[in-house]
Amino acid sequence: MDDSFDEECDYLFKAVLIGDSAVGKSNLLSRFAKDEFYLDSKPTIGVEFAYRSVKVGDKLIKAQIWDTAGQERFRAITSSYYRGALGAILVYDITRKTTFENLKKWLRELREFAASDIVIVLVGNKSDLNQSRQVEVEDGQSFAQLEGLSFLETSAKEKLNVEEAFLEMINKIYNVMSLKTL
Ligand code: GDP
Repeated sequence: MDDSFDEECDYLFKAVLIGDSAVGKSNLLSRFAKDEFYLDSKPTIGVEFAYRSVKVGDKLIKAQIWDTAGQERFRAITSSYYRGALGAILVYDITRKTTFENLKKWLRELREFAASDIVIVLVGNKSDLNQSRQVEVEDGQSFAQLEGLSFLETSAKEKLNVEEAFLEMINKIYNVMSLKTL
């Protein structure tokens, strides 16, 4: 992993994390970018981002992934957050049904502000808290199918499927980009 900005890469692209407050967006990103997990929410307010480079085939792809960093609490996410984003990870918390019910609202916003061919991966986070589950796996699956999204349940805490979720998005973006440049 290399965080340096000027690292040589074949492609550089932007992706965003969205979803209700406290579903685990920041921790998914820090797990993916730095392999770290925090028990408390970060108090910082404002957009933050992290980089991670991955190899897809023989290409080095650098993903710049933006985190709302608390702004969603104030409905302060604006079109600039979505501008230029090729991918989105849409997150809900499997232990809080309202975060699942709000997915439609997030999709509406994505469709209003983001590019029409943006790649969206739906993530049901906190799968380690199965005993407090309020959203069944099947509900996540059928919502994703209906909306044409990829779907995974993850645990940022237990490091389950986090890598897979981001790689799913990155691979799909790469495929969309390769088709465009053919
Ligand atoms: P954000 O507001 O969506 O960025 O959410 P945070 O990443 O700040 O996480 C909110 C809270 O949920 C924090 O207390 C985290 O420690 C906790 N959390 C995040 N991901 C997980 C997870 O996979 N499992 C569990 N048990 N807790 C998590």
